[in-house]
Amino acid sequence: MSHAAEAALPVGVLGGTFNPVHYGHLRSALELVERLGLEQLRLMPCAVPPHRELPNCSAEHRCAMVKLAVAGEPRLHCDARELHRAGKSFTIDSLVELRAELGEQRSLCLVMGCDALLDITGWHRWGELLDWAHIVVIARPGWELPAAGEVAAWLSSRCVAEASALRLRPAGGILVEELRPLQISSTEIRQMLAAGHSPRYLLPDPVLGYIHRHNLYQ
Ligand code: ATP
Repeated sequence: MSHAAEAALPVGVLGGTFNPVHYGHLRSALELVERLGLEQLRLMPCAVPPHRELPNCSAEHRCAMVKLAVAGEPRLHCDARELHRAGKSFTIDSLVELRAELGEQRSLCLVMGCDALLDITGWHRWGELLDWAHIVVIARPGWELPAAGEVAAWLSSRCVAEASALRLRPAGGILVEELRPLQISSTEIRQMLAAGHSPRYLLPDPVLGYIHRHNLYQ
């Protein structure tokens, strides 16, 4: 490994529908940048979710809101790659692309909430995810890690105790991180908007302005 590759900091990627993006996503993203010593964390909106209904809000709108949300924070980025791929947005395809761009040696961390982890065996080629990236699981209020079964066994066989372990190799480890719990969900924000209530202070003002300008979630 070259000296340059050794010195390169890990890159994180947080996939989601971001329908819309909120402070739960953003605060977790920033805390992870600092805890894991990431060079950057990319919020990657899913264009065609494989496991849930197509969101009522287009991928272009969701992506535009993520861009507004991360503007001004140089360590957070919007990664729009899934909007440029046809068909279902499989995470494994994005990881393969990211690996090609970042090189063989760069540490890559796929971030997901505990809720997403519970469904992981339904993900396309889920057993290969760790070949391409580490997985960082955010412990979320109200969700528990599986205690028994296939996912529990997979977790314990790949679990690492410390964030520093993720810097030593490019992929293959699972880290569970407890971050500041912020009980905010996109579902609740959509419900508030539909009911005519204000979700202000749960998401950035520029995102709320975008929602009003485009009459989203009415
Ligand atoms: P919805 O309510 O529509 O299901 P959501 O608020 O859970 O949406 P997603 O876009 O599905 O948001 O989430 C993307 C990723 O961010 C997921 O891995 C999810 O677990 C995580 N996440 C969502 N909300 C929070 C939060 N408040 N704190 C930490 N992580 C979160």
